[in-house]
Amino acid sequence: MSNEPKKTICLEHQCAEDQATPFGMVCPQCKRRLYTNPPQGNLMSFWESQPVAFTLDREPCFAYSLMWEDYRVRSIHLPDQEATARESSEIESHS
Ligand SMILES: [Zn+2]
Repeated sequence: MSNEPKKTICLEHQCAEDQATPFGMVCPQCKRRLYTNPPQGNLMSFWESQPVAFTLDREPCFAYSLMWEDYRVRSIHLPDQEATARESSEIESHS
């Protein structure tokens, strides 16, 4: 668990993305979905232009999307700091 660059959280399921797939790291529930009911269509992957949340230190958190025609995985990338190990409830919603 050392030297991990950044922690990512699945925005859909609110859990850590620690499962490796051909598409990158996803959360356990997304992995199950990808394997039991593979999404259709072309895969697009992109960073969202606006931060989706801010940490309590007002660090912006950006989201990375993997988008198929009928499924989308959105990952929030937390700043590399102590707070990343805490619960996602500490992330203030930016809406
Ligand atoms: Zn997920």
